[in-house]
Amino acid sequence: MTTKIGDTKQDLLQAATLLREGSLVAFPTETVYGLGGNALDREASRKIYAVKGRPSDNPLIVHLAKWEDVYSIAYPTKQAKALYDAFCPGPLTMILKKLPIVPDETTGGRDTVAVRFPSHPVARALIEAAGVPIAAPSANVSKHVSPTTAWHVYNDLEGKIPLILDGGASDVGIESTIVDLTGDEPTVLRPGDITAEEIKAVLGSADYYHGEIKEALAPGMKYKHYSPRVPCYLAKRESLESAYESLKAQGTTPVLIATAETIDLHPALNAISLGRDARDAQHRIYGALREAEKFGAAIIEDLSDRKEYFAAMDRIKKATGGNVL
Ligand code: AMP
Ligand code: MG
Repeated sequence: MTTKIGDTKQDLLQAATLLREGSLVAFPTETVYGLGGNALDREASRKIYAVKGRPSDNPLIVHLAKWEDVYSIAYPTKQAKALYDAFCPGPLTMILKKLPIVPDETTGGRDTVAVRFPSHPVARALIEAAGVPIAAPSANVSKHVSPTTAWHVYNDLEGKIPLILDGGASDVGIESTIVDLTGDEPTVLRPGDITAEEIKAVLGSADYYHGEIKEALAPGMKYKHYSPRVPCYLAKRESLESAYESLKAQGTTPVLIATAETIDLHPALNAISLGRDARDAQHRIYGALREAEKFGAAIIEDLSDRKEYFAAMDRIKKATGGNVL
């Protein structure tokens, strides 16, 4: 199969037709690029797992164009409506009780469904034109870094899908915040651009998930994610240079991934910038991790002493998988 990258109105209409016919299409969202299929078509969901090589017990997020659409797939709650009014369309995914129409293939056999209302105009136009809810995980090969440009998708899925809609670089750059609204308390299962504090300000209560990573709660958490195809190490600001030199001494060509401020202190080292603030870091992290694959190893600045980098650090920790230098 040849994979086309397109950005015209005609490409969008073709994508909508492909989705209605049960095919898969990659499309831009403000978080990362998604690999979309009709969420109500169990065969389409099966294809998503097959194309990505994703474990079938890791459920998909269902993308909707507007609030009213939620009634066709889930039981919305007052809390869900309040969060919708505060943050949607935008980078927030809500877990709700599902209606029987949503197949087990989409929800990994759960009685709940994850719903999101993306703000990217191409994503919204595509959902509207397709006229069906779109199940979409990130459009990368399972366990690789999430894509934030059409070319990232192409590099992972070329030959496996017919069409990639190009809507420019994803603005937010990391996956949506996931909040579970089916328990006693709203629980943030995956950190993102919208924080637990912001959700708490709307609902009166909300916290990050602190417990054991149980399959029942957030299946995706148990899988290794976001890994570049080179070794990645986390290092504290004061150890970056020595970590770099020790890798070099072992014959590797390392690259530093750090804030612009930190890179300025190490002008002689190969470096990829995460920019000047946490929003920049979120926007750039996945591109940086893919860029790092051109080197022998990546050393990433530990930013966990800065609260605003919490979501970016979540992804960095998953990329480094506990490797510290
Ligand atoms: P992604 O890996 O970006 O496709 O995001 C999907 C993630 O959403 C999964 O890995 C799960 O952790 C989470 N998720 C999706 N649906 C559900 C659900 N019904 N219940 C709990 N978590 C879910
Ligand atoms: Mg993903």
